[in-house]
Amino acid sequence: MTSREADNPQAIQDSAVAWRLAVEAYQRDDILLAYDLARPHVGAHGGQMLNFWHSIEAEWRTRMALRMASVAADITVEWPADLEPDPVDLEQVREAREDVAERFGWQPSAPLTICLLDPRLDVRWFPYRGGYYTNRGSHHKIVLPGGLLGYDDFGRALSHEIAHSMVEERAGGLCPIWLNEAVAQVADRTSTRGARRRFQSHLWSWLEPRELDQAFGANRLDDPGQRVLRAYMQACLIGQWLARRGPNPGERQLGATLDAFTDNGLWKDLWLRIRGYTAADEAIRQVFGLGEDELFRLAQPAGGTSAEDEG
Ligand SMILES: [Zn+2]
Repeated sequence: MTSREADNPQAIQDSAVAWRLAVEAYQRDDILLAYDLARPHVGAHGGQMLNFWHSIEAEWRTRMALRMASVAADITVEWPADLEPDPVDLEQVREAREDVAERFGWQPSAPLTICLLDPRLDVRWFPYRGGYYTNRGSHHKIVLPGGLLGYDDFGRALSHEIAHSMVEERAGGLCPIWLNEAVAQVADRTSTRGARRRFQSHLWSWLEPRELDQAFGANRLDDPGQRVLRAYMQACLIGQWLARRGPNPGERQLGATLDAFTDNGLWKDLWLRIRGYTAADEAIRQVFGLGEDELFRLAQPAGGTSAEDEG
C-alpha cells in the first residue's frame, strides 16, 4: 500500500487488494483500519467474505467504544458501549488464565486481549456461541459474546479459548484440530455423558484421526447431521481419556504433549516423517507411549460403563 492509500483506505478500488490489506490489518488487530478497508467491499466475491466481515464489524464496534481495563500486567479486557462488566467478571478473566496455566503446567509468554461483543451481535454465532480465539501476531485475542456475562458459560468459554491460546504457544500450527479441541474441552470441563452413550451404542460413529480432523471443517450453520458437534464430543472423550492416564496429574501430561510437538531437531522431524509418523503421533508417543491410531482405539467408549469411564 502506498502512503496515500494508507491515508484513505476507502479510496482503494480493487476489492481483492482491499480485502488482502484488511485481513493483514485484522491479523495484527488493527481493527479500525481493517474495518475502513473492508467496508466498501463487503459484498465482493459473491458475498464470500460476509462471515469474516461480521467479525470485523463486531470487534470494531467494541474497539470504537474505547472501554478497557488491565486485569493483569499482560491481560486487557475491552467491552462495547451499553455493556458494563462487573469487577468480578474482570477478576474471573485473570483467574481463568491462572487456572489453565496451573492445571496444564504452562507459563504464558504473550499478552492476552479479551474482546467482549455487543450482545446485539451475538446472534451471528448461533448456535455455537462460545466465541473464538485468534493469534494476532504480538498477542492472543479472545472474542466472546458479551451476552455470556453473568452466566456460568462465561467462565467455561474463557477457559476454553484461553486453552486454545496455550496450544498456540506450546504446539503452534503443528497441533491437529482434534487435539486442540480435546485440550480446550478438558480445560472447560465439558461433560460427555450423553455423547459417551451414543458412541457406545454406535448411534454416533467413532472416526479415525484424519476423518475427525476433517469433521471439524463441516459447515456449522448447515449441518443437520451435527457432524461438527459430534467431532467436538469425540475429541473431548479422547482428551478425558488421556487426562486419566499417566503418573502425573493428567492435565499436566496433556500440557507436556503440546511441548512435545516442538522439541524435535530437524533430523528427528525428517526421520519421523519418513517412518510415517505425524507430528501428533510422535508427540503422543513421547508422553503417553502410544500412537495416534492406538489412542483412538483405546479411547473409544466400549459397551458397559465403569466408574473410570464416567466423563
Ligand atoms: Zn475450541
